[in-house]
Amino acid sequence: SAKHSRQSIVIFDEELHEGVEAEFQLLTNLKTALARGELTLYYQPIVCTQSGDIYGVEALLRWPQADGTVIMPDKFITLAERNNLIKQLSAFVINRVFQDLVILLEVHSSLEVHINLSCQDFVEQNLISTLAMLLDTHQIDPKHVVFELTESTVMQEVEKARSLIETLIEMGFSVSIDDFGTGFSSFSILKELPISQIKIDGSFVSLSHESEKDQAIVETSMFLARKLNCSIVAEGVESDACLQYLSRLGCPYIQGFQICEPLSLSECIKWMNSRLMV
Ligand code: C2E
Ligand code: CA
Ligand code: CA
Ligand code: CA
Repeated sequence: SAKHSRQSIVIFDEELHEGVEAEFQLLTNLKTALARGELTLYYQPIVCTQSGDIYGVEALLRWPQADGTVIMPDKFITLAERNNLIKQLSAFVINRVFQDLVILLEVHSSLEVHINLSCQDFVEQNLISTLAMLLDTHQIDPKHVVFELTESTVMQEVEKARSLIETLIEMGFSVSIDDFGTGFSSFSILKELPISQIKIDGSFVSLSHESEKDQAIVETSMFLARKLNCSIVAEGVESDACLQYLSRLGCPYIQGFQICEPLSLSECIKWMNSRLMV
């Protein structure tokens, strides 16, 4: 019996060991990639529904691999969060976005760039000083920068979130609530925090042209945003039928594969130029 239990421990250990080792390897690779500046940002356009004009772009992290494949952020953001790496990751993202923004503004002078923040960014105290330093380095006007915070992120640390949001607004940035409607506190957030925009989650938007329940949620969110003087973006627009529905509804801004997928900086500049010419 002693022998038997030892055996089962060995089997369990091996499986655990493989998982831990794979994660440790990924983390080590991520640190190296960050240090070497190998991570990159893609930009997904956000457009005005009625005119199709570009309103802004959302910066999305990509991790290109030597073999030509790309690791998507869902695979490494939580890993970075769990291992205290968000501070460096966010500093990298903000620095790169500010650098790219200087170029993007030459193509479209009123463009807004959206940057995703993680809940770790609230807990760390460095975000604001990093931002102040990078604004100065790149000579960026903060009116071009919108920070996206998810509902669940904000609710984990409401007081810290409030103080961060207030500071960001004082500095001249805007704040948008990402994945709106997917948390359990959508109304509280609108009531408690000085936010200027909500992004309705794609899970409500994508089929809103044909699903009555999704319609109810999208239309209520729109009504609410309008009453509260919030701007609103519908994300996850994947079909022309959905785009037409949102247009009839008067949703001001849309984002999704139907309009444009996330693009590299140079592709994004080409896309913006071709749009501006028509
Ligand atoms: P998110 O902020 O909700 O970003 C939207 C995600 O939906 C992106 O995935 C985007 O490529 C994808 N998407 C865009 N249009 C459509 C559409 O029409 N249909 C569908 N089904 N999906 C669409 P991505 O790039 O894989 O990013 C996943 C998540 O990773 C983001 O979700 C965000 O939470 C996080 N993330 C990405 N970049 C950063 C970053 O720089 N910092 C932090 N902290 N998080 C990031
Ligand atoms: Ca986002
Ligand atoms: Ca989102
Ligand atoms: Ca999301």
